[in-house]
Amino acid sequence: MLLVRYSEIGLKGANQNYFIKILVSNIKQALSGYSGVEIASSRGRISIRGYSIEDEAAMVGKLSKVFGIASIAIALECEPSIASIKDLSIKALPALGRFTFKVETNRADKRFPAKSPQVSSEVGAHVIKMLSPNASVDVHNPDIVLNIDIREEAAYIYWQASAGEAGLPLGSSGKGAVLLSGGIDSPVASYMMARRGMKLSAIHYHSYPFTSVAAQDKARDISKVISEYNQGMDLYNVNAIDFMQSAISNCKEQYLTILLRRFMYRVAEAMKSKIGFSAIITGESLGQVASQTIESINCTQQALIETSVMRPLIGIDKNEITLIAKRIGTYDISIRPYDDCCTVFVPKHPQTRPVTEKVAFEEGKLDMESLVGQALEKTDLLTIKWPY
Ligand code: ATP
Ligand code: MG
Repeated sequence: MLLVRYSEIGLKGANQNYFIKILVSNIKQALSGYSGVEIASSRGRISIRGYSIEDEAAMVGKLSKVFGIASIAIALECEPSIASIKDLSIKALPALGRFTFKVETNRADKRFPAKSPQVSSEVGAHVIKMLSPNASVDVHNPDIVLNIDIREEAAYIYWQASAGEAGLPLGSSGKGAVLLSGGIDSPVASYMMARRGMKLSAIHYHSYPFTSVAAQDKARDISKVISEYNQGMDLYNVNAIDFMQSAISNCKEQYLTILLRRFMYRVAEAMKSKIGFSAIITGESLGQVASQTIESINCTQQALIETSVMRPLIGIDKNEITLIAKRIGTYDISIRPYDDCCTVFVPKHPQTRPVTEKVAFEEGKLDMESLVGQALEKTDLLTIKWPY
């Protein structure tokens, strides 16, 4: 069986069942490709049984991307008696050759006659008796920690546990729309918000044919990686070419980046009721580039009427962001050479401290309403299904 422990959900009070229900349903979906899986939730953990053993490693891999899980252990279970626990401990230990171990017991059922240290020492002595000279005790730096978990209904024994992603179950924090470029930051921002339980859709802006198809392929490939955490993903590809051309011919060059940013926000907000979200997510980090000074951020924000913008990377350094990108698997895609609609038209000397009135004046030269409308008409939806 697999023994799944949850993380922050344990701290929830009266709401706990709401989160557990979502987590169980997400686990069910994550494992929907495997036959025989039975999922049960009781007293602080979720147990998974009935699957075939050859699927086990792949199932653990799937669960390692489900948010809300603290750890996943491959466990054996038996009736809660010392004799059965000793027997099973010998079966649980693999043919490792020589190994050192220690036993750790957790007695959740306080009515169990032996106390935890006593169980540990009895089981330890039994393992040595049966498996010596291969097995020897090392309490400081053992190869294996044999965990014994004694509960009312059963005793569980495991020595292999892998860490989960923690966070909150996907879907427990509503829905968001991430502005997804082909860069390093916005994929990491997506991951961080999904980890807090927000189910995401993505909006990507391009300027095809000025930008290549490869730019859109990048957004798609990044979305595929994120879909593993986000349990699928709707990716909206928006062609911003009409806006770009109009802005280039009518507005001062140093304002192009900030005008484009404001345009992105406006288009996203116009898609709100269609997509259904409560927040826009970006990969901005304070001071990283000209468009991410506090003045630029404030000026961009004013393009929005009512939607809140969440910037999970705002206080995080680039090298830390890069480490996360590498770990979640988006980095290698992000560094493919690319022509983003922002980099293609990037001004040589962008405004680092834009004054909102001046930006508004430049923007006033454009027919924003119809440009937003044109972009909405040139929007394609790509749905990434999950699990594949
Ligand atoms: P990233 O690595 O996410 O591209 P960046 O460091 O390149 O970020 P900017 O180019 O200033 O920063 O973009 C800031 C944010 O604006 C991005 O994190 C992203 O959320 C959004 N954004 C930028 N370009 C696009 C795009 N082409 N499509 C959708 N969103 C975009
Ligand atoms: Mg970028």
